[in-house]
Amino acid sequence: MYKNLDLELMRKIFEIPSPTGYTHHVIEFLEKKVQELGYSTSKNKKGNLIVDVKGESDYTIGLSAHVDTLGLMVKSIDGSGNLRFTRLGGLILPTVDGEYCSVVTREGATYTGTILSTSPSVHVYKDAQSASRTEDNMYIRLDEEVSSKADTLKLGISSGDIVYLDPKFTITSSNFVKTRFLDDKASVFILMQLLIDLKKDNLVPKHNLKIVFTTYEEVGHGCSNIPTVDELLAVDMGCIGNDLSATESVVSICAKDSSGPYDYLMTSKLIKLAKENDIKYAVDIYPFYSSDASAALRAGADIKAALIGAGIHASHGMERTHLSGILETLKLIKLYINAGE
Ligand SMILES: [Zn+2]
Repeated sequence: MYKNLDLELMRKIFEIPSPTGYTHHVIEFLEKKVQELGYSTSKNKKGNLIVDVKGESDYTIGLSAHVDTLGLMVKSIDGSGNLRFTRLGGLILPTVDGEYCSVVTREGATYTGTILSTSPSVHVYKDAQSASRTEDNMYIRLDEEVSSKADTLKLGISSGDIVYLDPKFTITSSNFVKTRFLDDKASVFILMQLLIDLKKDNLVPKHNLKIVFTTYEEVGHGCSNIPTVDELLAVDMGCIGNDLSATESVVSICAKDSSGPYDYLMTSKLIKLAKENDIKYAVDIYPFYSSDASAALRAGADIKAALIGAGIHASHGMERTHLSGILETLKLIKLYINAGE
């Protein structure tokens, strides 16, 4: 059922670290892969990768997914040589307590470490269980013999260095994909698979496509400078929980998020296509959310915009989806880019 998905490519996309502000490696990887497939690409100054696909009509649909993920940045080095950090994007901090991480210096050296609470031992600290996990009482323990700030500085580590987390990419025998950063690398993979499938089957879509891999979504301005398109379909994680109806097995169609309602006609077309083609889907309102489409609209782009994506459980924490959610999203995109007005 999932044999047509390039799961090795999926693994590679997840294993290239790309916290927001440190996305050039994954963009280079995607650029090379897309050029090998025979597409023409361009990059804007802030590093978004744009892939052009010629269609039959004059109408151009933009499709976006963001390569940037959550991460950390070194804020300071304390007197014991440990690292204090600031978040890149909105990681749920209690979920990173105990996580392995890597620090990349500006010179390109990499050091491993572990993210811990400042009360990390139950045998020593009364509040080891109860201490809140916040930036103020967490730190990174380096796997280096350091005991002073000078020791750590000598390694070449300094404020502003990027810290990335091990995503723990796993596909289970039951076809769940559990890994950090499904938001939004699941969608990056979906758009890459779309490009692969178009070439493989020699398909020319009805409309021109501009596929944009954005680099600053997690900090709110990923698609703020969208190339000229008539409409933008943002492909980003679908929310799960509370009174929402999506699951990890479906494509979630977002009717409204914190930035307001999405385009009525585009959203209605997506729902109609899903319904008529037996796609597993849900329509939901995302309570605390905005997307690359919101960023484009806020920046003044005169476009129509909609938002869909695979259902992602426990977002910005230990995320999980199912290959079914990924496949249903891909199927709906394929229908959409070939549908009439
Ligand atoms: Zn996202």
